[in-house]
Amino acid sequence: MKEHIISALISTIGENRVLTGSAVRERYHHVWLMDQPLNALAVVLPRTTQEVSEVLSICHEYHQPVVMHGGLTNLVGGTETQPSEIVISLEKMNAIEEVDPENRTITVQAGVILENVQQAAEKNGMLFPLNFGAKGSAQMGGVIATNAGGLRVLRYGMTRQLVVGLEAVLADGSIVSSMKKLIKDNSAYDLKQLFIGSEGTLGVITRAVLRLVEAPNSRISALTGLDSYEHVVAFLKFMDKGLAGTLSSFELMWPSTYKVLTTPPASVSPPLPYEYKYYVLLDSLGSNPKQDSIRFQNLLEEALNQGVIQDAVPAESANDINRFWTIREDVAPMVSKCRHIQQFDISLPIPLIGKVVNKMVEDLYQIPEIEEVFTFGHVGDGNIHLVIGKNHQSEALINQINHRVYQPLKAIGGSISAEHGIGIHKKHYLHISRTSEEIQLMKTLKKSLDPRNILNPGKILD
Ligand SMILES: Cc1cc2nc3c(=O)[nH]c(=O)nc-3n(C[C@H](O)[C@H](O)[C@H](O)COP(=O)(O)OP(=O)(O)OC[C@H]3O[C@@H](n4cnc5c(N)ncnc54)[C@H](O)[C@@H]3O)c2cc1C
Repeated sequence: MKEHIISALISTIGENRVLTGSAVRERYHHVWLMDQPLNALAVVLPRTTQEVSEVLSICHEYHQPVVMHGGLTNLVGGTETQPSEIVISLEKMNAIEEVDPENRTITVQAGVILENVQQAAEKNGMLFPLNFGAKGSAQMGGVIATNAGGLRVLRYGMTRQLVVGLEAVLADGSIVSSMKKLIKDNSAYDLKQLFIGSEGTLGVITRAVLRLVEAPNSRISALTGLDSYEHVVAFLKFMDKGLAGTLSSFELMWPSTYKVLTTPPASVSPPLPYEYKYYVLLDSLGSNPKQDSIRFQNLLEEALNQGVIQDAVPAESANDINRFWTIREDVAPMVSKCRHIQQFDISLPIPLIGKVVNKMVEDLYQIPEIEEVFTFGHVGDGNIHLVIGKNHQSEALINQINHRVYQPLKAIGGSISAEHGIGIHKKHYLHISRTSEEIQLMKTLKKSLDPRNILNPGKILD
């Protein structure tokens, strides 16, 4: 049976694009686990949507499970692979098909890396606003499949808000293509939304039309120190109102996180002293460098005078902006502090974050195996990350930590995943964020689109 599938795949897309044996073991299933060889039946590398369709028709016919591999940067076990599964990677489908500045869209194949989309937009005087730390590896297929968020959701929304058209291949090989460049299209169900955020369980995303915005002429950043969480909320409202729509990022760091990200081996020294309870890094993208800078400075001064913030350092140059944002984007110094790591991306109502997260951290430190708890996140979106360092990695400890983080979220209407998705790691906690009726409807959809359960089986739903 395995031989039949492999030879059917080879005769469809050619021997050199169906990897088996040692060629499979040279690969891996996650960018952080490159030393662990991939164990899969085969890796298939289609070059066109038609080839993806033919590959899936064969897998459907043989009831063969497949796992999609994009840039392999997801943080939920989404690309974990069983030895009996076939990996489909769209890395050969990496063309930027068109940049259309008049229509403000860019059309890409799913294997294009996010940073390349950003650069192509920039070359055409435009901005593709989606931005996060893994931009140099994440591919648009994976980004769309996870509905990624990141640093500018506050202003431009999640990936979902930036996808205008989409092409996907269903489990049986049918191609569903709606590659229109329309911002508004209310002709019945918006089917592309089914695939965005479905983590490869409902279809394989092959191409997309993405929304661009005009490139900003000015960028201003500042790092600020605050003495209470109430002031963080007040500062967010104050700056958002004062900047009249140009506030693009508003990132919070607790003091221990700020410290680890600004002391060696971190590459950046601390722009502000280690004496504040909260640190906010904010960014404004505007159109008039001089006026924007004066307005931003005036607002910071007013916030200082009113006691909303205790201290502020504005970035004086492009170099400063890079330096400040490296603090927030380069999580490596934090990760290197942890013997074993468990990380979270929870969502909760903005006013409750201070109280709930501080209590959560206190409860986590009651667990003797926990050595570090770092907290930070996109507070303007109500999204907080926890990176937990612990001295071992047993299943019981993982569950105990999950329980302490997720349980408080139910009562306050929070979510177990703000942006990373569910994958394998969070599927047993889905009931905390979703009702049983919602989960049942998800199962109905999955069954209807993938009746043989061949697409990323075991991810999101059992
Ligand atoms: C340092 C770092 C920082 C990060 N910061 C953020 C952040 O700020 N915000 C955020 O949202 N995420 C963040 N992430 C998580 C990750 O980068 C995103 O989830 C990203 O969108 C995954 O893209 P990928 O190409 O690596 O997908 P992969 O990891 O390869 O795959 C992700 C999921 O999508 C499926 N998939 C992949 N390609 C396709 C396709 N063509 N069609 C259908 N399904 C597919 C996979 O099977 C898997 O389930 C971060 C990760 C790292 C390592």
